[in-house]
This record gives sequence, C-alpha cells and structure tokens, in this order.
Amino acid sequence: MELMRAAQDLAQVQDESGLPGRLAAICGTANVLSGFAQRLPYARDRLPFATFAVRDGALPGTLPRLVVRPADEGEVASILRLARAEDVPVIPFGAGSGVLGGAIPLGGEVTLDLKRLDRLLHLNEVNGLATVQAGMNGGRFEVALNDRGWTCGHLPQSLHMSTVGGWAACRGAGQASTRFGKIEDIVVGLRAVLPDGEVLEVRPVARRSSGPSLRDLLVGSEGTLGVITEVTLRIWRRPEVELPAVLAFPSVAAGLDAARRILQGELRPAVLRIYDEEESAPRAGGLPAFGERPVLGIFQFCGPRRLADVEREMALEIVREAGGIEAGSDAPYEHWLAHRYESYSAKWQNAGHWMDTIEVTLPWDQLSEGHAAMRAAALSLCDGMHFGAHWSHAYPEGACQYMTLRLPPMERDRALRLHREAWDRIQRMTLERGGSIAHHHGAGLFRGPYMEGELGTTGLRLLQAVKDALDPGNLLNPGKLGLRPRAGADLSARGTDR
Ligand SMILES: Cc1cc2nc3c(=O)[nH]c(=O)nc-3n(C[C@H](O)[C@H](O)[C@H](O)COP(=O)(O)OP(=O)(O)OC[C@H]3O[C@@H](n4cnc5c(N)ncnc54)[C@H](O)[C@@H]3O)c2cc1C
Repeated sequence: MELMRAAQDLAQVQDESGLPGRLAAICGTANVLSGFAQRLPYARDRLPFATFAVRDGALPGTLPRLVVRPADEGEVASILRLARAEDVPVIPFGAGSGVLGGAIPLGGEVTLDLKRLDRLLHLNEVNGLATVQAGMNGGRFEVALNDRGWTCGHLPQSLHMSTVGGWAACRGAGQASTRFGKIEDIVVGLRAVLPDGEVLEVRPVARRSSGPSLRDLLVGSEGTLGVITEVTLRIWRRPEVELPAVLAFPSVAAGLDAARRILQGELRPAVLRIYDEEESAPRAGGLPAFGERPVLGIFQFCGPRRLADVEREMALEIVREAGGIEAGSDAPYEHWLAHRYESYSAKWQNAGHWMDTIEVTLPWDQLSEGHAAMRAAALSLCDGMHFGAHWSHAYPEGACQYMTLRLPPMERDRALRLHREAWDRIQRMTLERGGSIAHHHGAGLFRGPYMEGELGTTGLRLLQAVKDALDPGNLLNPGKLGLRPRAGADLSARGTDR
C-alpha cells in the first residue's frame, strides 16, 4: 500500500463506529492509538519483503485499524469479547521482530500490543521455574534472571528485540538450544485468552499424561488460536563455566559429520555452529589453521566445570576423528560472543541489496548434499547472487540449516520475482529431502503457500478445523500460518502475485 493511500486511511479511521471509545473504556484513552504515525510502526514486522516495501516508500499490507495496549489479562479478555461482538479481527503483537509477516495487518485488524504486560511475576527457585507476563522484553527477562543467579537458556539473536510471549507464539529457538532446548522444551505452563474471551490455563507441571498437550496447541500458534498472556519457563542456575572451542574442518561434510556424532554420542554443547566456506571466510580467513581446512566450527560447552571439561574433551576426540583440528585462536568465538545479539541485515538493505534468511530443518543424511544443491539453485538465479549457510541447532536426527541469500541491487520487480523464486526453490527442495520448511522463525504470512506441503492436506485441514472450532468468526490473526484469510484480505505481502 502506498504511504499516500495510508495517509488517507487516517481520515477514515476517525472511526465513526465508536470502537475507539469502547476500547478506551477498557484500557483508557491513552492506550488506544488511532493516529497515522502511531499506527505506522505496527504496519509491519521484520519480514524482509516488508523492509523492501518500506525502502520504496510503501507498506507491505495495510495499517492496523487501531492499536490497543492492554495492561493485563483481564483487559485482553475484554478486548477479545468486544472484538467478537463487533466482528473485528485482532492481531497480537509482541515486539514485531518476527521475520515471516505474522504481525502484518491484512485489512481491518486491531493490533493488540502486549508490551504493557511486562512483569516477572514469580521465581520458584526450588522447582526451577519463572513465571513472566507475555509482553516482557526477552533481554530484560534474561537480565532479571541473571541478577538472581539464573538463566532461561533461551537466547535468540533477537533476545533484546523480542518478547517472551513472542518466543512461545513463534516456537522459537535460541543460540544455546542444543543444550537448553527450544522454546517448546522450556515452556512448562502458560495462560492464554481464547478468541471467545475465556482464559485457558495450562498449569506448570513437570509432565502430564492426560491427553494431547494443550500447551503445544498454543506454542507455535502465532496468534491465531489465543493470546498468550503469561508463560512459566524452566530456568537453570547460571553455568559455572563456558568453555569455547574454535575448530577448522577440511569440508562442510566433515564438520557436519562431527556435529552428528557429537549429538548422537549424547554430548550437548550449549553452542554448536558450523559455517560453510562462504560464511567461514570473513570470520576465520587469515588464521593459519583455515588454510587447508576452510570450514569454521564454533562450540561452547557449559555447566559445572568437571562436566564441561569432559564434554569438551570427548567432543574434540570426535572432531579429530572427522578430520578437524583446534584452530589455535579463540578470536572467531570472541567475535561471535560480542556480536551475538546484533542484526547484520540493515547494512545490506540500506545499500540496496535484497537480503533474506531462510532456516529449514534437514535430516543428517541430506544436509551436506542438500546444502550443495540449494546453494547451486540459489546462485543460478542471477549474477552477483550471494548464498551462505551455517548450522547452529542440532539434534540426534538432523539440524537446522540457516541460509542467507542476497540479491545484488537491481530493478525492484525483477528482484521481488527472483526473491520469491529463491524461496520457492529452497522450500520445495527442503520438502523433497524430507525436511521441514521452518526450523524456528515460524510460518507467519510469507510461508503460508508452503504450509500444505509441510503439514500435508489432512494436516492443514486439521489445523483449520481447530481454528474454526476455537475461532468461528476468524477473528484472531486471520490468514496466517496458511489458514484461511478473511474476505477481501490484502495478501500482497506474500509476494506471490509476481
Ligand atoms: C535480527 C533477528 C534475529 C532473530 N533471531 C532469532 C533467533 O535466534 N531465534 C528465533 O527463534 N527467532 C529469531 N528471530 C525471529 C523473532 O525474533 C522471533 O520469532 C520472536 O520470537 C518474535 O517475538 P516478538 O515478540 O517480536 O513477536 P512479534 O513479531 O510481535 O509476533 C510474532 C508472531 O507471534 C504472535 N504473537 C506475539 N506475541 C504473542 C502473544 N503474546 N500471544 C499470541 N501471539 C503472539 C504475533 O501475532 C505474530 O504472529 C529473529 C528476528 C530478527 C529480526
């Protein structure tokens, strides 16, 4: 949507319907935002396609009709009841760091900014649990835990620009996931307001055997099934030591072989990162060890010193068997540690490149060949195309392949067509190789077209049936996760019409 059109929309929202007043009666006039400039930051998240649009003076979708900022769960419930009575769609909004367009309005939605729900409610140091309101900033949450000698172990690169509720909603993974687990392993209980305004409480217990997991219905639901208001997470004592290992491997295949055997050998490094040659060069090029072994590995072992020492030693034995060596310099690790929460994309986007990242899950027996094939498929798109990859979340069965793609500066229509073509190729190749289209960024809007391939026709039908049962009016974040949009939805931010 062009900004001028959006500006005109401002006039229309001098809402004749009385909705702003009724929302203000719930959470106060100051917490109902209707001005153009106030709504503009909620018109998009960090979906690169949206960044491309903004760079050209446009919006990826539409402005939200209004933005409302509830103070607590009771206000969230009242807002959803009102929305239901008035047939107004609602988008839950954490910090807007999602990269798949999950928070982008498609037409007529009220955006529900949850950042006022920002308190650490309770720390149970005997059970090792922290209960936190969903809108609390992730970095503030982790610092609050650290101050008391604890960590949550969920440390996404976007730690300081995301909320705890957003982590759960997107089914995310942090940089230390190989040891501490992904968010679905860390969320023990939660509270959520369902589309009819009722509150679902999943009590935090160590485990239950009482039917399908209702917790997992909400974790990963990306705002389509309920508004998460409170999360109880597993926490850990801060590790006594964090021991790095910087490694050089002769090839990607050798690095992945070592990673697989480490995971299958029951070792759990907190950090396990293998970079392909393209990504290794700027991080380690110039260090002597990488002359003959151009593939970089960065590991970190943590916990009680004795345990971390043994894990490191055992992992290094496997590394040597796979042809890797210790690099003799911790510089790449120190650099990663110092910059681990920074985003690199702005530099390229500002210079006119068309940059995006795609993370997928692949089984071990497909990773090395899959990487080569995807690299070839991406590079063949155009001259000057950049493709780099690393593997940073590993399991006994496979790993996440995190790819950075960058088209050089070029004419907009061509770039958008090639950008979508790159996505199509990589998502299709992932499915052909038995992987998952999304490791931790979620599906949002942009991955909607691939959800049937991911879940299967029956799987997607089941998800839609759950959505229809919980939300018959299709009011909560409609059109996301591959689910049915409302009539007249503006789906242009999917970029599929090119
Ligand atoms: C530079 C950068 C690095 C990143 N690194 C990582 C990473 O390492 N690991 C990772 O997992 N992700 C990463 N991400 C993606 C993103 O930060 C995560 O998906 C994050 O969990 C989103 O949280 P948020 O609060 O910003 O959610 P938002 O972007 O505000 O929302 C995302 C989706 O969740 C829904 N939602 C948000 N809050 C709630 C709630 N309380 N209840 C119900 N639905 C809700 C929204 O409707 C939307 O669909 C990165 C993003 C960027 C820009």
